[in-house]
Amino acid sequence: MRASCGKRAGLCGLAILVALSGCRQKQGPESSAPMAITTSSGIEMVLIPGGSFRMGGVAGNDDEKPVHTVWLAPFWMDRYEVVQEEFRKYQISDPSHFKGTRQPLEQINWTDAALYCNERSLAEGLEPCYDEDTWACNFDANGYRLPTEAEWEYACRAGTTSDYSFGNSVAQLNDYAWHAANSGATTHPVGQKKPNPWGLYDMHGNVAEWCNDRYAKDYYGASPGENPRGPDEGQERVLRGGAWNSSPESCRSAYRASDPAIDDTCLANDAIGFRCVRNGPRETPGAGSKQGVAAGATRQASGGEIMASGSKSKTGFVCHDIYLEHKTTPGHPESPRRLAAITERLKAGGLDAQLVHLAPEPAPEKWLRTIHDARYIERARRACAEGDAILDTGDNPISTKSYDAAVMAAGGVLTAVDAVMEGRVANAFCAVRPPGHHALADRAMGFCMFNNVAIGTRYVQQQYDLAKVLIVDWDVHHGNGTQATFYDDPSVLYFSVHQYPFYPGTGTESETGRGKGLNTTINVPLPAGSDDSDYLEAFEKKLRPAAVAFAPDFVFVSAGFDAHENDTLGGMRVTTDCFGKLTRIVKGIAEQFCKGRIVSVLEGGYGLEDLAASVETHLRVLMD
Ligand SMILES: [Zn+2]
Repeated sequence: MRASCGKRAGLCGLAILVALSGCRQKQGPESSAPMAITTSSGIEMVLIPGGSFRMGGVAGNDDEKPVHTVWLAPFWMDRYEVVQEEFRKYQISDPSHFKGTRQPLEQINWTDAALYCNERSLAEGLEPCYDEDTWACNFDANGYRLPTEAEWEYACRAGTTSDYSFGNSVAQLNDYAWHAANSGATTHPVGQKKPNPWGLYDMHGNVAEWCNDRYAKDYYGASPGENPRGPDEGQERVLRGGAWNSSPESCRSAYRASDPAIDDTCLANDAIGFRCVRNGPRETPGAGSKQGVAAGATRQASGGEIMASGSKSKTGFVCHDIYLEHKTTPGHPESPRRLAAITERLKAGGLDAQLVHLAPEPAPEKWLRTIHDARYIERARRACAEGDAILDTGDNPISTKSYDAAVMAAGGVLTAVDAVMEGRVANAFCAVRPPGHHALADRAMGFCMFNNVAIGTRYVQQQYDLAKVLIVDWDVHHGNGTQATFYDDPSVLYFSVHQYPFYPGTGTESETGRGKGLNTTINVPLPAGSDDSDYLEAFEKKLRPAAVAFAPDFVFVSAGFDAHENDTLGGMRVTTDCFGKLTRIVKGIAEQFCKGRIVSVLEGGYGLEDLAASVETHLRVLMD
C-alpha cells in the first residue's frame, strides 16, 4: 500500500500553536509503575527511568546477536501508539487503511512520522528534533522524536529478560497483543490489551513501530554501550513490536525488522505505525549512572555547566534601607517591621554572613513599563510625592518614599536576576517591600504597587533571551496581578496554590489561561485549614509534572509566607518546616531544567516571628 508523499508541505504549513500543558499526573496500572503525565494535547506519556539492560535475544535471529549491555538516559514515551484522532488534530488527511479514531495510525512512512514529531514539538513550544531537509535527528533538542531501537526494546522489556514483556508463553500473547491469530486481519483501538510492567500498551502487536535508527543486520556487534543510535548509513529504518498480521515469533521484545519494500522512505503499509519519545529529566553527574551516561543525560540544551549536587549553592540576598521607608498606617500588617524581623533573624542565626549581599538599584522605568501603564506609574509617583495617604484603594497606604521603595523593590529583582544569570550566585532571595503579586497593569491592589516578579520575568526573557519562565506562587493569596499579566502568554507558566475562597476572589481551578496561554496558568485553590500534606500534594502532583512538561529556562518564586499556621491574615496550617520542603521541590525543578536558576521574591507573611523563621528555612534550602 502506498502512502502519499505529499503530506509534508501540508504538515509543515501548519501553524498550530497549542499552549504547553498543565499536566495532570495519572496513576500507572501498578503502584510501582513509572510516573506518567498527560500533555495538553491529551497524550499520555510514561517516564521511562534511565538504566541498563541486556539488548538482543540469545535464541533469536542472527541480527539479535550478540546480546549486549546497553545504558540509556531517561526518556518519556507515549503510553499508546499514535492514534488517528491525534494525527487529525493537525488537519492532515489520515493515511490509515483501517479507520477508527482510537485505532493506531498506519500506512505512515518514516519521514512523515518524523514530521509529525516536529509538528507536535512546535505545537507545544518545544524544539523540533528533525532537520526537515536531511532528516537528521538532534538528540539534544527537547522536542518529540522516534525512539532509538535501544530505547524501544528497553521500554518494551520493562525490566524483563523473557521473550515477551510478560514471560515466554506464546499462549499468553493473546492477553497482550493483537497478532495474526486473534486480530481478525485488522488493527484495533489502542489500549485494549494488557499493558507491560511499565504501563505501555500494544508494545507487542497491533502495528509495528518505527524507530529512529537505520537498520543494519550486524549493528549489535559494533553498537556503543551508551545510548546507541544505530548506524550512520542505511536505506531501511528499524521496525519493532510486530503487528496485527504478525506471527508470535515476530512480536517478541527482541525481534528486529525493517521494511524491505522501503528504499525511499516514502512507502508504507497498513501494519506500520509509531509512537513518540522525548528526552527525560536530566540526572545530576555522578548520580549512580556510568559516567558517560550521566554526561549524556545532563547535557543542557543551552550549554553550560550544571551545579554539582551536594556542593553548597551561593545564594544572593537583596535588601535595602529604602524598603523600610515605605510606611503604611499604624497597625497595618504589611509593615517595615517585617523586613527588620527577617534581617535580625538571619544575623542571629549566622546565615547573614553566608549570603552574598546584592546591592539593588532602582528599576529603570523601561522595565516597569513592560508590565505597567505609563500613566499608572506616573500616578503612583505623584501620589507619593504629593503626600497622598493611599493609592487607589484603602488597603494601599503610602508614604512619600513609597514610590522609591517600590521602584527599588522591582530593581532588587532585576539585580538578583543579573547575579544569577552572570553566575555570581546560584539563586537569590529578595527581601523587598512593597510586595507585588496583586498589582495590576494600571492599579495598585492588596498592599502591592508594582508587580516585582512579573517585571523580573519580562526582564529575564528580554535581557537574557530566555524563552520560558516558571512562576511558583505559594503566597496564601491568589496572585491575581501576575495571573492577569501572563494569562494569554504561553511563555510563562504561572502556578499558584492559595486559600480559596479568600482575597482577592480569583484563582479557581477553571482559570487556566486563554488563547495561546491556555493551560499555562495552573491554580490550586485550597480551603482554609489546609496543611502541609495538601501543599506538598499540590506541588508533587500538579506543579512537578507541569514543570517537567514545560521545561522552564528560569524560575521565580512569589514567596509569601502567610499560609503559615500562625499567620495573622491567612487561614492555613502550613508549618515553617514545610516551606523548606516546598523550596526543595522548586529547587529540584530548577536544577533539572535551568541550572538551578531561581529568584525568590518576598510577597506576604505577617506574623513576624514565623515569617522570619520561614524565610530562614527557605534560605537554608536555597543555600544547600
Ligand atoms: Zn498574601
